[in-house]
Amino acid sequence: MRRLLAFLALTGLAVAGAVWLADRPGEVTIRWQGWRMDTTVPVLLAFLALLLVAFSMLNRLVRGVFGAPGRWFESRRLGRERKGYAALSDGLAAAASGDAARAGKLARRADKLLNDPAVTGLLITQAARLSGDDGQLRQRYEVMTERRETAFLGHKGLAELALKQGERETARDQAGQAFLLRPGAEDLAALLLDLHVEAGAWAEAEQVLRTARRRHALPEAELARRRALILLGRAEEALAAGDESRALDWALDARDADPLFVPAVSLAAGLYRRRGKGRKAAALLKAAFKAAPHPLLVTGWRALGEGEGALERVKRMQELVQANPASPDGHVALAEAALAAQLWGQARTHLEKALEQRPTRAVFQLLAQVERDERKDEAAAGAWTLRAATDSVSEPSWTCGGCGHHAPDFALRCPACGAAGRLEWT
Ligand SMILES: [Zn+2]
Repeated sequence: MRRLLAFLALTGLAVAGAVWLADRPGEVTIRWQGWRMDTTVPVLLAFLALLLVAFSMLNRLVRGVFGAPGRWFESRRLGRERKGYAALSDGLAAAASGDAARAGKLARRADKLLNDPAVTGLLITQAARLSGDDGQLRQRYEVMTERRETAFLGHKGLAELALKQGERETARDQAGQAFLLRPGAEDLAALLLDLHVEAGAWAEAEQVLRTARRRHALPEAELARRRALILLGRAEEALAAGDESRALDWALDARDADPLFVPAVSLAAGLYRRRGKGRKAAALLKAAFKAAPHPLLVTGWRALGEGEGALERVKRMQELVQANPASPDGHVALAEAALAAQLWGQARTHLEKALEQRPTRAVFQLLAQVERDERKDEAAAGAWTLRAATDSVSEPSWTCGGCGHHAPDFALRCPACGAAGRLEWT
């Protein structure tokens, strides 16, 4: 409608102009280089209008001819880009579905077409990861560390790669850099803490622990457990350096961090005892035995009565059993003391309790010993020994959560695989 109105208005103006010109005739004469041309004003005007139209058409033609190569290159570039992004997207899908060969092929294609590592980096990394090409993967992770947006993934990837290849120091360094970039990452905080504890880098470990607590990177219980581990490490180090008083302070701190952490209680009690503070040691051991009975605590308790007579020992062990009657460790220890004091009835009673709670091989063997020592009854003893072979359950032990190794004593680092803080009493 607007176009129609504009057309009518223009036509009206043109007609009015033509009429106006026709009403005012005039002559024009042009002389140039010996030429002479006579004409009227309307004709000259019409000629000029034609000239204008011709120029405009020529201009379009020239632009059309000279602009063609540019447009061709542009459309070709767009085509490559489109194919590149298609390869990228298909490649990511292949990587997600675990198709290493296809992901690798598409990654190379996308890389060639797009020629932009910032865009194709992730796919190439994924493809290298799937195909197990560690050399290529390392190179990619290193490139990723250079850009702010991908630096975290790069350092984390390098740490994982180093772990896989057993380069614990490099892993610690790379995990540390990744942790600085994203201190809230849970699995990273745990990994870095383990690596610091493994290396005995207590100050760094405590620093990570503080940051992890502030950022809620790990659950409270987990933080407490790891803090106790670090403090025990400090205590053991002080002890190795001959500084018993410092070692005791650290061990007590470790026990405060995690009151159920038996190795810390055991170490603190032992140090108290050596410094002549038997009552403090007893209080520590008893409280811990109440909450988390353990043979280490029994050993510490027994050590408190060094040089005492058999009957005194029975009394001492009775006190421990009273603290936690539900623990087979207490009953076995009391039965052993009763056996030594030739209190057969008491030995039997507590062995039977232990048998109900946890029928280990040791309990059956002690029962056999009672039969032998009290009545010289080899047949009854033999029956218990036989039952030990069929009815006993295995004794709990320090077991590595990483490699499954059973260690005779607690250690910060697994004696088999070296992993820190993985020994559990199971
Ligand atoms: Zn292990």
